[in-house]
Amino acid sequence: MNAASYRDTQLLIDGQWRESSTGKTLDVINPATGAPIGKVAHASIADLDLALASAEKGFKEWRRIPANQRAITMRKAASLLRERASEIATLLTLEQGKPFAEARGEVLAGADIIEWFADEGRRIYGRIVPSRNLAAQQLVYKEPIGPVAAFTPWNFPINQIVRKLGGALASGCSFLVKAPEETPASPAALLQTFVDAGVPAGTVGLVFGDPAEISKYLIPHPIIRKVTFTGSTAVGKQLAALAGAHMKRVTMELGGHAPVIVAEDADVMLAVKASAGAKFRNAGQVCISPTRFLVHNSIRAEFVKAMVAQAEGLKVGDGLSETTTLGPLANSRRVQAMVKVLDDARKSGAKVETGGEKIGTAGNFFAPTILNDVPTTADVFNNEPFGPIAAIRGFDTMEEALAEANRLQYGLAGYAFTTSIKYSHMISQQLEVGMLYINQPATPTPEMPFGGIKDSGYGSEGGPEAIDGYVVTKAVSIMSS
Ligand code: NAD
Repeated sequence: MNAASYRDTQLLIDGQWRESSTGKTLDVINPATGAPIGKVAHASIADLDLALASAEKGFKEWRRIPANQRAITMRKAASLLRERASEIATLLTLEQGKPFAEARGEVLAGADIIEWFADEGRRIYGRIVPSRNLAAQQLVYKEPIGPVAAFTPWNFPINQIVRKLGGALASGCSFLVKAPEETPASPAALLQTFVDAGVPAGTVGLVFGDPAEISKYLIPHPIIRKVTFTGSTAVGKQLAALAGAHMKRVTMELGGHAPVIVAEDADVMLAVKASAGAKFRNAGQVCISPTRFLVHNSIRAEFVKAMVAQAEGLKVGDGLSETTTLGPLANSRRVQAMVKVLDDARKSGAKVETGGEKIGTAGNFFAPTILNDVPTTADVFNNEPFGPIAAIRGFDTMEEALAEANRLQYGLAGYAFTTSIKYSHMISQQLEVGMLYINQPATPTPEMPFGGIKDSGYGSEGGPEAIDGYVVTKAVSIMSS
């Protein structure tokens, strides 16, 4: 499969794929070449009205299906996703840029997440509460909250949807997603698996268009009962405010700026291998990507040298080439952002150990970059870079490292490398993050909570906590007459 086999993407409304009512489309660009490869339908307000009415109808049907039957349908969709993994991964690489092996891994991880949620949906238990009057029964019900509006970004076109869709469908909610216009075909292929698995029409819907117009229309709409967004903190705050004004439940999975503390007693090569793998995955366009490296001064030179070797060992190229280990950035905005971050870092006095430049003229390639001696005032140490840049600075005491790690308003992922139990405890207790990985790269499995604190958002997209976002509690007291 190659660029010639890329498909145009339509809207999924009421179980049918259709063009926009206005016929409007947007171009989809291959980030490895800069060339258009297809089109995506741009929803109008009339299309959104149809999608909303269908989501309301879909909710009424889907919630009445017993949980074990819903699980069977979800598992069927997961199997189809697995069967189609290579085909879908090709679409994903063509529109997003990541190496094919990463794209295939994302699709397979998506199937795993759906299966986990399918089973978790069978364990949404209420409870019986002992009554103060023996003639009365006190029951706590957990019910699906209602139709969900989801907004997902382009960095993991499949998995950003799956983490929301899994929780919503397992709970009995219907799900209407505005997926990324830049990477529309892989989300469409994902939702097709649910259509093929036999969900009732309207249980899942997919729209694209003007993100601000769609969120402004869907969030306040009375049919929508829950809003879930993944993207930047700035946009998340706007959407959370709008949802708050309309009393809508919200999950926000926002930006991060993950600190990596490498203590003086760390296994340096383990720290380098784990950090470099995590850093350059998806060209650093990952909300839990390690970004602010705080390395004890006694081992910093060794760490930096090995990180440079890892970065220089990457093979940058088109994600469809078998030898590529670092693809292009997903869109040209990211390249401009990287150039700006590097300009600022150089002016601030940071040392560019390797990389630091755009590569070539076609496509969005940026060299894997290692910065050292980065001052805390540099932009890269304050704002999420969201690209293939590792920024390193030294520290002398663990207290100093923790203070620097906690200085920012971000609180998503954090990493630490140490062989000491004392430091492991100290970091576990004091680092202000939603997810912490010690002596390993990130392993965000579906059974573990996934989410941030502080400006990185609220709510979880993993573990039983993820279900909490999609259910409401009803306290029922029945007096026998
Ligand atoms: P952006 O902030 O404009 O958009 C981020 C995402 O939010 C996109 O998917 C976009 O379609 C969506 N969006 C933007 N405005 C919206 C609105 N009013 N209503 C609904 N959705 C809206 O920036 P961008 O250039 O696409 O990405 C840049 C930054 O976004 C990155 O630096 C990173 O901080 C953040 N981001 C985070 C994640 C994540 O996984 N948390 C994913 C992608 C992007």
